[in-house]
Amino acid sequence: MDVDVVVIGAGPAGTTFARIAAQHGLEVVVFDKRKEIGNPVRCGEGLGAREVVRQGLELPRFVYSTEIYGAKVVGPKGQTIIWRGKDTRGWVLERKFFDKWLAELATDKGAKIKVYHRVVDVIRENGKLVGVKVSHGGREPFDVRAKLIVSAEGMEALTARKMGFPTVHRLYDVDTCYEYEMQPYDHENLIELYFGNEIAPRGYVWIFPKANRKANVGIGIGAHLTTNVKRGGIKGADPKFFLDKFIGNFEPLKDSNTLLDFGGVISVGAPLAKFTMDNAMVIGTAAKQVDPIHGGGIALAMEAGFLSAHAAIKAFEEKNFSEKTLYKYYEKPWRETTGKKLQRRLLLRKVLEKLNDDDLNFIFDNISADDLDKVMKGEYAGVVKKMLVGRPQLMKVLGALLS
Ligand SMILES: Cc1cc2nc3c(=O)[nH]c(=O)nc-3n(C[C@H](O)[C@H](O)[C@H](O)COP(=O)(O)OP(=O)(O)OC[C@H]3O[C@@H](n4cnc5c(N)ncnc54)[C@H](O)[C@@H]3O)c2cc1C
Repeated sequence: MDVDVVVIGAGPAGTTFARIAAQHGLEVVVFDKRKEIGNPVRCGEGLGAREVVRQGLELPRFVYSTEIYGAKVVGPKGQTIIWRGKDTRGWVLERKFFDKWLAELATDKGAKIKVYHRVVDVIRENGKLVGVKVSHGGREPFDVRAKLIVSAEGMEALTARKMGFPTVHRLYDVDTCYEYEMQPYDHENLIELYFGNEIAPRGYVWIFPKANRKANVGIGIGAHLTTNVKRGGIKGADPKFFLDKFIGNFEPLKDSNTLLDFGGVISVGAPLAKFTMDNAMVIGTAAKQVDPIHGGGIALAMEAGFLSAHAAIKAFEEKNFSEKTLYKYYEKPWRETTGKKLQRRLLLRKVLEKLNDDDLNFIFDNISADDLDKVMKGEYAGVVKKMLVGRPQLMKVLGALLS
C-alpha cells in the first residue's frame, strides 16, 4: 500500500484528522487495532460543546445519551455548588456511536479506515520514516508506505515511541480510573463532581447523567498512590475500592444496578515535549493532550486532529514534510493557545493536590459559582485573594497561582 498519510488509531483524534485531510484531497488510511471502532468504551463520555461547534459539526441524536446544562460540584462535607455557566453546554455521549459517527464522516470524505489492523512497527530508510508495518488480525505484517505518519494511538502510543517520541508516562502524571454505568439514578442533567481526600485522593468521583435514569459513575485517583505503601502509596488505594466505598455511602446509588464495569488510565500531566518530527506527528491523547484537572481528552483530540490535518495540507502544498514545517503549522499554534491554557491548569492541579480536607472545606464553604467559573477559565487571582483573606495559611499552597 502506498498513500499520502497513514494514521494510527481511529479515535476522535485520528478520524478528525482523516475527515479534514481527505476533504482536502489527501489520500488517507486509518488503521485501528480494535475489531470495532469505539468498542469497548473506556470513558466517562462527557463532552463540552465548544470544539464540536468550532468544527461546524452537529451531533446526530443517536451519538449522545443526554444534554448537559451545568455542573454540580460537591465538597468533602457535602457543600454543593450548582454551576450553570453559558459555556457549560455539552453532552454525555454514547462513545460507541460517537466514535463510529466521526469515522463515517471521514469515510464520506474519502478516507479509508481498516479495523482489526494493528500497526506493529515503523519502516525507516536511511534513517528516514517512510511507512509502517501493519498486521491484520495477527497475520504476517504488510508494509504501508506514506509521506506522513500520524500517531493518534491514545494512551499506549507504542508506535510513536518507536518513532522516537518520548511517550513514557510517569505514574505521578497518570490517573487510574474505574467506572460503572448504573441504573436507576434520578438526575437533573448536571455533571456531578465529588471532591475530598477520603473520597478520591488526588482526584474526584464523577456522576455523568444518561438517559433512562442511568449514569456513568466513575473515579480517577493519582496512579502513584496505588503503588507500594513503602514508596509513598496509600494502603488500599485502588480506584475501585474508593468508588465502591463512595457508592456504598451514597443513598441514591447504593442499591442501583451496574450495567457496565471497567477500568482505565489517563494522562493528567504535561503534554509531550515534542509533537512533530520529519514525516511524523503525534496527536490527541498519544501526545498527552489531556486536561490535567478533569482528565477530559475528547475535545482536545478533535482539536489536535483539526490543526494537524491543516498542517498536513500545508505540507503537501509545499511538498515539505520536515519537522520545521509540521511544527510551524501544527505544534507552534497549539502550544501558543491550548498549550498555554493546559499549562495553567496543570499548575492548578499541582496546587489543588496539596490541599487537605480542612483546606478544601474552607474553599467549598466560601467559593461561589461565579468564582468557580473564573477558576475554570484560568482567572485565578481574584478568587485566590478572596480565599487568602479568610485562611492566610493557604498562602504557601495557593500562592503559586497568583503569579
Ligand atoms: C476512565 C476514563 C474516563 C474518561 N472520561 C472522559 C470524559 O468523560 N470526557 C473526555 O473528554 N475524556 C475522557 N477520557 C479521556 C478520553 O477517553 C481520551 O482522551 C480520548 O479518547 C482521546 O482520543 P484519541 O483519539 O486521542 O485516542 P483514543 O480514543 O484512545 O483512540 C486511540 C485509538 O488508537 C488505537 N490504537 C492504539 N495503538 C494502535 C496500534 N498500534 N495500531 C492500530 N491502532 C492502535 C486504539 O485501539 C484506539 O481506538 C476518559 C478516559 C478514561 C480512561
